Amino acid sequence: MEILLASNNKNKHKELLNIFNEHGSKHTLLANKDIPEVIEDKNTIEENAKKKAQECYEIFNSPVLSDDSGLFVEVLDGKPGVYSKRYAGDNATDSENNQKLINELKTASNLNAFFKTVLCYFDGSNFITSEGLLNGNIIHEPRGDNGFGYDPIFEVNGKTLAEMTLGEKSNISHRKIAAVKLVEKLNEI
Ligand code: IMP
Repeated sequence: MEILLASNNKNKHKELLNIFNEHGSKHTLLANKDIPEVIEDKNTIEENAKKKAQECYEIFNSPVLSDDSGLFVEVLDGKPGVYSKRYAGDNATDSENNQKLINELKTASNLNAFFKTVLCYFDGSNFITSEGLLNGNIIHEPRGDNGFGYDPIFEVNGKTLAEMTLGEKSNISHRKIAAVKLVEKLNEI
């Protein structure tokens, strides 16, 4: 079966195509279509992932795989969460979002946080979802030049995600954990 990736993000394409190959997927991921922008206006990343999958299925009429992710900070009751991309405003840059989070956590002693990815497969009748989590902690001074989003202020075992190579990050990432689980579930159908 061929499954269309409902994302235009080239980094996600690379990461997910690799995982599907390395983990013995029976199915082929296609990343060859221009995916229209889907408004992510739901209250959870699970609902946003489902919405993206449904809308893309309706347009392309073929099985699709969508994803949505976010950063959840313990002392902020899970914020920025579903609002991770636009935490400091609708057109906020990554560094504005990072600075807002650093300010919110100025006096916090608990800096625990996790990234979560939800992947959603939809074929017109069945939804299959999987989830991946990456635990770490927020730091007050950004470090590292790699990656994107909150990578420079998210530390795992003393190293920020922005200090890791793409390979190192991909190996432990929330997206990888979700994708490996999804490959297993899809191989059963
Ligand atoms: P998306 O749904 O994967 O595009 O993620 C939404 C937002 O969550 C991004 O714009 C980032 O701000 C944040 N985010 C998701 N995954 C990561 C990651 O791996 N590193 C840093 N930030 C991330």
